[in-house]
Amino acid sequence: MIKSRFAKREFRSLLIENVDVWTTESVIKNARVWVENGRFRGINATPTGKVERIDGGGKVLMPAGVDAQAHLRVPGQGHKETPATGLLAALKGGYSAILTMPNTQPTIDSVEVLKRGQEEVRPFESDFGVHVFWSAAITKKLNSDDLTSYEDLVRAGVRAFTNDGLGVTNDKVMEQAFAQLEKLGVPLLQHAEFLGHGGSLAPGPVQEKLGASPYPDEPEWKMVERDLRELRKHPRARYHVLHVSSRKTLELVRQAKREGLLVTAEVSPHHLFFNTETIDGDNLAFKMNPPIRSPEDQKALWQGLQEGVVDFVATDHAPHESVMKIGSFDKAAFGTLGLETTMNVLIFGHRRGWLNERRLVEVFASKPAEFLRLPGGFGTFTLDAPFHAAWVDVNAPEQVYTEDSISSLSKNSCFIGSKLPGRIEGAFHEQSVFVFP
Ligand SMILES: [Zn+2]
Repeated sequence: MIKSRFAKREFRSLLIENVDVWTTESVIKNARVWVENGRFRGINATPTGKVERIDGGGKVLMPAGVDAQAHLRVPGQGHKETPATGLLAALKGGYSAILTMPNTQPTIDSVEVLKRGQEEVRPFESDFGVHVFWSAAITKKLNSDDLTSYEDLVRAGVRAFTNDGLGVTNDKVMEQAFAQLEKLGVPLLQHAEFLGHGGSLAPGPVQEKLGASPYPDEPEWKMVERDLRELRKHPRARYHVLHVSSRKTLELVRQAKREGLLVTAEVSPHHLFFNTETIDGDNLAFKMNPPIRSPEDQKALWQGLQEGVVDFVATDHAPHESVMKIGSFDKAAFGTLGLETTMNVLIFGHRRGWLNERRLVEVFASKPAEFLRLPGGFGTFTLDAPFHAAWVDVNAPEQVYTEDSISSLSKNSCFIGSKLPGRIEGAFHEQSVFVFP
């Protein structure tokens, strides 16, 4: 079943012909790209030795994406997603790398749990060409009290700390975390939300019609405001706001950047694509945290992405088994899938002139790679570094997204039923080419 989702072929030296190459620097029309022994050997370079050729069909070739926020649910939550289905979804979404979140079973808050997760995914990384990078909890069991062992975890490969799913409520703990992370240069990713609001949908017509509890924007921006206060005490610490949903939060990020603090932010594809007036009250995948907000917020997020106040796009891919997504909005779990539909959302923005080609590659690939300090070849085409590319038909007409096309184990996508433009034709990962049917 999984195998039929793509055709895979290996090669030693390959010339990808008849493609438009999009990078952060330029758009090169009708180009050819040479890949040898899994490494990028140049655009319009003349290959030496025996070379195979593949027709790119006039489509776009760009650096494969890097997703800085995905819930692979490893370890311990194979009923929501498995390494095989999660990495397949990432492959089909045009990604070369994901940063997986630590709110798992058990929590990734020790080197021991981390190692277990790393071992579990390893065989699938080589099968699908997609690499998994790891984040660990800020506090043990996400309890907002005892810090985890940052130095040990960083030494074991952790690239960021986050209690994603739960904001850190304790001011003192936030300050201690910044104090330690400042020395390590590793970012803290905040899921900004003060609990107690009890909401499930942002105020708006669908929330009112369903009588769902309103989820205001205050719990988000208040926490960012508090974090920035603590951050000023440790101004060399790196602070990142996960899934910004409101324009008020954006303003705080904008000001903090002006101030020279090391603040970054991301936006999720669903917050870009929908607003409170376009969400579907019959699809419980629209219960996600933070919720989709007003048309004004949506507009501000696109603008922030264009201007660079928002650094990149991250999916917050959050698979849930179907029993978690039944009943009412107030009862269902938070979360929507995202890995397989983000490129379509970026193309949607591109067609409207909100993202040019270079900025699209930045927010999809190079900026998150830079943020996570990934090795050469992730997020960019780097001469002689491992080659990872997404092969995209940016002109493919809009198509209604259906459950059948989902590769994830879970099916909770808020994009089901939406018309999405563009199509990913395949991917190149080092010595392998993947073609999607
Ligand atoms: Zn979150």
